[in-house]
Amino acid sequence: ANERWKSILHAGLRDQDAPTIFDRIIQRQIPSEIVMEDEHVLVFKDIHPQAPVHLLIIPKRRDGLTQLRYATADHQELLGKMFLTAARIAKEQNLRGYRLVINDGSEAQQSVFHLHMHLLAGRQMRWPPG
Ligand code: 5GP
Repeated sequence: ANERWKSILHAGLRDQDAPTIFDRIIQRQIPSEIVMEDEHVLVFKDIHPQAPVHLLIIPKRRDGLTQLRYATADHQELLGKMFLTAARIAKEQNLRGYRLVINDGSEAQQSVFHLHMHLLAGRQMRWPPG
């Protein structure tokens, strides 16, 4: 019952955290090279590419997901959608290999607090990542 009440509360709340540059990209207030968009996700080129292909996959409604750590069961469909979007784009672009990265927290060098998945490809990757 407590979980249910929390999800009802959650559904009625607006996102309380400060907007990020990604909100301005979503709203076309600043330009970006958009690769794909649907009702739920936006995919655009990273402004400082770390590989020949470097895309960012983001939810259009942040819905509390400043960081992956705030994900709940309510976000399950959205998170699945982000992964499927990455896999679909990789297939469409005939990527031979690719890497998906989510940085969560400043120790992981997250800099934009709106959940995003990096899709990197087009060169030989190394392990471990820096
Ligand atoms: P993070 O470091 O938070 O995992 O990733 C944020 C990413 O957003 C960085 O790779 C950075 O280059 C990218 N980024 C930051 N500002 C902009 C912007 O204004 N436009 C685009 N296209 N990418 C941005």
